Order: sequence, then structure tokens, then C-alpha cells
Amino acid sequence: HAKENGRGKYCVFAAEMNQRVFEYLWLDTNLRKALELDHLTVFYQPKVDSDGQIRSAEALVRWNSPERGLVSPAEFIPYAEESGLIVPLGRWVMLNVLKQILTWRQQGIELRVAVNVSARQLLDQSIYSDLKQALADGGLSDCPIDIELTESCLIENEAEALTLMKKFQDLGAQVHLDDFGTGYSSLSQLARVPINAIKLDQSFIRDINLQPVSQSLVRAIVAVAKALDLLVIAEGIETKAEEAFILNSGVDGRQGYYYAKPMPAEQFGHWLAKHPARV
Ligand code: C2E
Ligand code: MG
Ligand code: MG
Ligand code: MG
Repeated sequence: HAKENGRGKYCVFAAEMNQRVFEYLWLDTNLRKALELDHLTVFYQPKVDSDGQIRSAEALVRWNSPERGLVSPAEFIPYAEESGLIVPLGRWVMLNVLKQILTWRQQGIELRVAVNVSARQLLDQSIYSDLKQALADGGLSDCPIDIELTESCLIENEAEALTLMKKFQDLGAQVHLDDFGTGYSSLSQLARVPINAIKLDQSFIRDINLQPVSQSLVRAIVAVAKALDLLVIAEGIETKAEEAFILNSGVDGRQGYYYAKPMPAEQFGHWLAKHPARV
């Protein structure tokens, strides 16, 4: 029996391995192709300021696969990071977003857009020079793009990451620390990193009306952020009750399905026309 058992386990393991290898190969061929064929697209999710105005959005990439439909970045970004494809992919997102911002400007819509940048992209410094070049090519004297990065960017190569963050700020981009509170971030670290805002991770919001300790944590984080002159953005707000707490907590920006899900650029324009302000 033991032998059979062992073999059974081995088979399950081998099957899982096979599937992973298959998935890797599928992604390797198809994500590369998707980039070339323009099968990627950018969705936009609004951020609501404390006065109810919408002045910015977050850009979230999607893959429109003919085979699989709309693929979530949670599925392909980790692979893109591992393979290095994140570098050309990130460049594509950045240029695409800047083009969209310019289109919106022609329509009288003034928006800042935050772009997610992962650790691997920070090490390959081209994301910075790409942005600088794109701003010059677009004839822009300001920088309407902000950068969202997670703590893992700081852990993997801190000195270089800090330098690059400072350079982004000098260019006029705000730097936001994404998913704050989930990693190894300590509050004291906030004092020495060149950032403009922290984005409170969704997990805090999800627990907020169940766990009183989450409420205390949010209040403590907001207090420290305020003392350091940092903005706080709450992400993942889904319900009125979650919003109610957040409105009372001193948070500067709100984002989540409660306001709007991420949507294609054109739809975002229509949505914005119907929601000029939300108090
Ligand atoms: P993130 O930057 O933390 O983005 C927030 C994620 O939460 C997005 O998932 C968004 O659609 C989702 N979200 C927003 N509001 C709510 C809500 O109220 N409830 C819930 N449950 N979820 C909400 P998405 O679009 O699937 O993106 C996942 C992650 O993929 C992002 O997390 C980001 O880390 C990464 N990502 C997305 N686009 C890019 C990109 O262009 N470049 C890089 N490097 N990473 C990207
Ligand atoms: Mg983000
Ligand atoms: Mg986040
Ligand atoms: Mg995230």
C-alpha cells in the first residue's frame, strides 16, 4: 500500500509540474506575441480625493487573449517579471498611458495617472529614461504620470531603488508606496524613503468593520503618515460601511469597486462625465 501511495503522490506531483511547465511555455509564447500584436490594453480606475473630486486614476494592464479572453495581470505579471518581459511590457504601458492622457487633454479632461512599476523594472533603469523621453516627445513641461511601487522594490536593491525614486520625483512624478502594510514595511522606514503617498492595502479595508484592531491600525498609520507629510490613499473600498469609516479616518484618497471598477479608457471618459465629483 505504501508503495502505491507513494506512486500516487508522485503522479499528482508530476501532473502539477507538467501543468506549470505547460503554463510557462504558453505564457512565454503568447505574452510575447500579445505585446507585438497589441493585444494588451490598459484599464483605468478612478481615485476620489477627500473633497470628492476625481483628479487621478490608476492604470491597470489587461491582456485581451483571443484564446483565453481577458486575462488578469495577477496571472501574467509574475511571469513577466520572471522572464524579463516586464521591461518591454512596462514601457508599452507607460507610453500607452501617456498617449491616453494627451487624448484626454484634447477633450478637456485633466487627469494624472498612476502606473504600477515592479522591482525588476526599477533595476532596469530604462523605465525612467523612457518616461523622460516620452515627456519630451510629447512636448510636455509637466509630468502627469505617477509611479506606484511596492516594498519589494526597496528590499531587492535598496540603494538603486531610492535613487531612482528620487529621480522620478525630480521629473515631477509622485511616488506612491503600493499595498502598504502587507510586506515588511515598518513605519519608521517611511521617514527615509522618497515617497509622496502610501496606499493602504485592501486587506485593512476588508477587515475594517469586523476587526476593531484594523481600525486602530489605520488610524495609527494615518497619524504617522500625516506627521511625515505623506498622503494616504485607501484602496479596495467596496461598501458604504467601509467608506463611512474611511471618510472619518483622515485618509486623503479613496479607490475601489464602490466608486468604479477599472474600465477601458473610453468608458472611463463617459463615467467621468457622469461623476464630476463625489462627496
Ligand atoms: P495593485 O496595483 O495593488 O492594484 C489594485 C488591484 O485591486 C487591481 O487588480 C484592481 O483591479 C483591484 N481592485 C480595485 N478596487 C478593488 C476593490 O474594491 N475590491 C477588490 N477586491 N479589488 C479591487 P488588478 O487590476 O487585477 O491588478 C493586480 C495587480 O497587478 C496590481 O495590484 C499590480 O500590482 C499589478 N499590475 C497591474 N497592472 C500592472 C502594470 O502595468 N505593471 C506592473 N508592473 N504591474 C501591474
Ligand atoms: Mg497599484
Ligand atoms: Mg495595491
Ligand atoms: Mg497589489
